[in-house]
Amino acid sequence: PAGADLWIGTSWKMNKTRSEANDYVAALLAADPPPSGVTGFILPPHTVLAEVAGRLAGSAWSVGTQNANWRPEGAGTGEVSMRMVRDAGASIVEIGHSERRAEYGDTDQAVQRKVRAALEESMTPLLCVGESAEVRSGGGQDRFIAEQVASALELVDADRRSEVVIAYEPIWAIGEHGTPAEPEQIAPVVRVIAETVAEQGARILYGGSVTLQNASELLQIPGVGGLFVGRTAWDPAGLLALIDLA
Ligand code: PEP
Repeated sequence: PAGADLWIGTSWKMNKTRSEANDYVAALLAADPPPSGVTGFILPPHTVLAEVAGRLAGSAWSVGTQNANWRPEGAGTGEVSMRMVRDAGASIVEIGHSERRAEYGDTDQAVQRKVRAALEESMTPLLCVGESAEVRSGGGQDRFIAEQVASALELVDADRRSEVVIAYEPIWAIGEHGTPAEPEQIAPVVRVIAETVAEQGARILYGGSVTLQNASELLQIPGVGGLFVGRTAWDPAGLLALIDLA
């Protein structure tokens, strides 16, 4: 909706070499910045985080990371810590994407620790929640999501909960094998998330097969405060066009 305060951004997931990342950044810097009221963000992979954040420092774009470990340092072969990604220029940390929950050890407990650790390092946790097709077909999505949100926030002090941004991403609707979700399927779950964070409030994004065709309609869903986008925004023109639509 015109004039509304929105977050629109993308995770590049496991994509982009340094030269591809630099081309993307160059395209953003050549274009108009996101208008005031729109927070535009990108979450590159760790290999290019410092470079991308360095080039976008001082611009209107926010940069974050797709994952970080909750321990500040130590014996964690292959991991990077919240401190390290913050030092590299991240201000946002994606936590609990369904791919990480399914394949890379983001248990509910790991998610809780990461959310707390991101806040301790003064970054915005971008918490992803979403039900499977199986849960949805049994009608259990409201309860599942309420529990997933409550669990993820368990270690966070009440007065900091509103700093957590929550992305509702139904697992069955994301990625190349996903079926786009309809606003009627999304709206009740967004309401459940809002009720779960009730007194504290939280920004809620929608993610999963967002395209230039469905973005405006998704942004009309009550309670949706932005979009979290994969494929459509892997090309800078896609991200810029989505921000224009908003
Ligand atoms: C995602 O995986 O978080 C996502 C939103 O992907 P896509 O937009 O490609 O469905």
